[in-house]
Amino acid sequence: MDELIKAWDGECVIVSHDRPSGAWIFIAIHSTKLGPAIGGTRMKHYSELKDALEDAQRLAAGMTYKWAAAGLRGGGGKAVIALDHPLDQQERASLLRRYGTLVRKHRGLFLTGPDLGTSSEDMDIIAQEAPSLVFGRTLEAGGGGNPAPFTARGIFTALETTAQRLFGKGGLSGKKILVQGAGSVGRELIHLLQGCGCEVLFSDIEEETVRLHRNEKGLSFVPPEAVYETACDIFAPCAVGGVLNEESIPRLRCRAVVGGANNQLAAPEDARRLQDRGVLYAPDFVANSGGAIALIGIETRGWSREEAMRRVVKAVRDNLEAIYRTADHEGISTDEAARRLAQRRIDEGAPENEDS
Ligand code: NAD
Repeated sequence: MDELIKAWDGECVIVSHDRPSGAWIFIAIHSTKLGPAIGGTRMKHYSELKDALEDAQRLAAGMTYKWAAAGLRGGGGKAVIALDHPLDQQERASLLRRYGTLVRKHRGLFLTGPDLGTSSEDMDIIAQEAPSLVFGRTLEAGGGGNPAPFTARGIFTALETTAQRLFGKGGLSGKKILVQGAGSVGRELIHLLQGCGCEVLFSDIEEETVRLHRNEKGLSFVPPEAVYETACDIFAPCAVGGVLNEESIPRLRCRAVVGGANNQLAAPEDARRLQDRGVLYAPDFVANSGGAIALIGIETRGWSREEAMRRVVKAVRDNLEAIYRTADHEGISTDEAARRLAQRRIDEGAPENEDS
């Protein structure tokens, strides 16, 4: 693990062992150049502890770019709570309270919100110990609630923008979209896609989710092992990171990849691999920025939910159009174009996106 920390280009990692639960906590601070780091708290089991640290570091770097690309004044950070064993409700709540105390002790450095394995209800618990340092609390507790509908709306906008570029005026209508992962974000996205006349295919690994979408919603199910070979117009990864890699990219049979999962590229070279195969890639930290933009706007700038939705659509569409244009003009990958856009805003001090 010391090698991972030494090799990282971020600012620091807070490491804590929670003795009562056996969990490890990593808070990775990638950059505070634009303000305190803001990023979600992921809670899950990892087979190796170093994978948890690496996850925190990669996700934190993604947040630096996400805030900058969105034109918002936030630094990049992410927390991972690596569970040692499954916890009952009470143990879990106690762990979250101790984690809240840890966040409070580092006030000014890191603010957090929900991510994989944590919910708005969990944020309410953390906020008891770390008031004003938590986004995405429940609506009842005065927070912005579940960010997934905003994230999904942003991904849907990215799909529309990409379809317009690839297929012209008809856009998404009648196009075959394969959604990998029908969880909080995927479920909302599927709903939006069905509403605009797309043919939606989905894949998931949870029996109950598969049953619901296949039997009750009548969607075509693609088994997880057949996802990459399945012909579709656009592939939308909304499950886990690292799905675009040396092994999967040659198997893809789609014109574009536009989804919500964080860190979809396993390695930076995968952006070029997609480009060489003629697959248009919507950089994940732009396509999935809707939830983050909305929570910040609702909770710190007084936006209504309608206002937040409007700003999410505009931010994702404008950014993605600019990224596709730059990639075309300069012959670089869309991922590189997105990073340049974000880096420019970091260097300029990221003017707030107030006019969006
Ligand atoms: P979730 O846990 O609610 O849903 C994930 C779904 O993916 C689950 O149904 C799970 O069974 C399924 N899944 C896991 N592995 C799979 C596989 N190999 N093949 C097919 N399905 C698989 O999570 P979520 O909140 O919907 O987030 C999904 C992704 O989007 C994550 O990568 C997350 O980091 C990212 N993201 C989420 C938000 C948000 O607002 N929730 C915001 C930005 C990014």
